[in-house]
Amino acid sequence: MSALKELVAKAARGSVIQSSIRYSDEEAEFDIPVTVLKGAGTGGTIWIQAALHGDEYDGAPAIKQLSREIDPARLNGTIIFVPILNVTAFKAQQNASPVDNVNLNRVFGPERKGSFSYRFGRFICDLICENADQMIDLHGGGQYLDVCRFVMASVVGEKAEIVEKMAYHCGAELVHLENGADNPKLYAELSRKGVPAVLIENGGGLEALPEAVEKHKRSVMSILRLLGYLDGKPEERSGVPVTESADMYFSDGGLMLFRRGIGDEVRKGDVLLRVMRYDSTEYEIKCPIEKGVILSIHTAAIVKDGQYAVMVGKT
Ligand SMILES: [Zn+2]
Repeated sequence: MSALKELVAKAARGSVIQSSIRYSDEEAEFDIPVTVLKGAGTGGTIWIQAALHGDEYDGAPAIKQLSREIDPARLNGTIIFVPILNVTAFKAQQNASPVDNVNLNRVFGPERKGSFSYRFGRFICDLICENADQMIDLHGGGQYLDVCRFVMASVVGEKAEIVEKMAYHCGAELVHLENGADNPKLYAELSRKGVPAVLIENGGGLEALPEAVEKHKRSVMSILRLLGYLDGKPEERSGVPVTESADMYFSDGGLMLFRRGIGDEVRKGDVLLRVMRYDSTEYEIKCPIEKGVILSIHTAAIVKDGQYAVMVGKT
């Protein structure tokens, strides 16, 4: 039995416990903070995390506030709150851990490597499967990315229906569901293993803005009501379906001269970003799909080659 499972089992009903999960291997060693709310009422267990990407700040304060505001006396079941998952990336103020610079949300596909993020990802995935019945993954674009309030999920396996409900009742403006077969993201791996999971994007930039934090809190509260952890009605079904999405990256570094904004409707060939290279020549990134909406876009003036530029969703 893992230390976390023991902690939850021993906790008194109607209590809040602050603790941490120890991770250590030959490359890294750290403690992941957790707050466990064990409800007075019986029910399942939901794992709610933020900062899987270390430079996404909107989810952590949302979790901290919710862990104080939700009354365990009114809670059915258990919530495991993890405000900062990717501790080494968070401390380094970057998306991926400096230990191996691998995106922790790309390590669950058919391609498996031996570096830290692959091992840490497996450790977290196993821990969630051992301890939780559902999972919510709060993201926030990143230092250089603004994001729409959108949700991503994999409708795969026996519990696909629950995944779909979680996605359409969290207040997101756009909903991107896919079949999840080879998807290398954590939510997809969890859904494949029978733990319904959704990834919620919202916010972005160098700080957590109160408005984005509030939206994350509302999404979580709605899902908690939907699944019966809390009494009350979840938000009405909402969200425009996104059938597919295209990710584009900067081919060269330079200065950004022009960019569109999140939520903009775009058509094939529309210029999404224009960059001046360091030799003063310019290039553009154009919309590759017939009709779509900008889900996330780079916002900083300086861009690096290979950096994430824009994500367009087909609507
Ligand atoms: Zn993210």
